[in-house]
Amino acid sequence: MTARLPTRPPPEWDDPCRRYAPDISAFLDGELDDGEAAAVWAHLQACAACAATYEDMRRIQQAVRTYAVFPTGGKPLRERVMKALAREEP
Ligand SMILES: [Zn+2]
Repeated sequence: MTARLPTRPPPEWDDPCRRYAPDISAFLDGELDDGEAAAVWAHLQACAACAATYEDMRRIQQAVRTYAVFPTGGKPLRERVMKALAREEP
């Protein structure tokens, strides 16, 4: 008896978007090697849905970077406010 190949191609053949979805976030994080990154990039050029997903993820990532940075070199806001209030007391 000989080994038989699956009669159906793997599901990701039917739906390349499903295959690329997890890669898009890895792509954003720079975690893919050159070959994988090129494949994802090529898909993004060809697929509006994944390009939109990529754009959303990129915006979220940028927002997280922006807002995750608290003002540095200062005391916590609460402490500054309490001090400011204390100064105004008679
Ligand atoms: Zn796609």
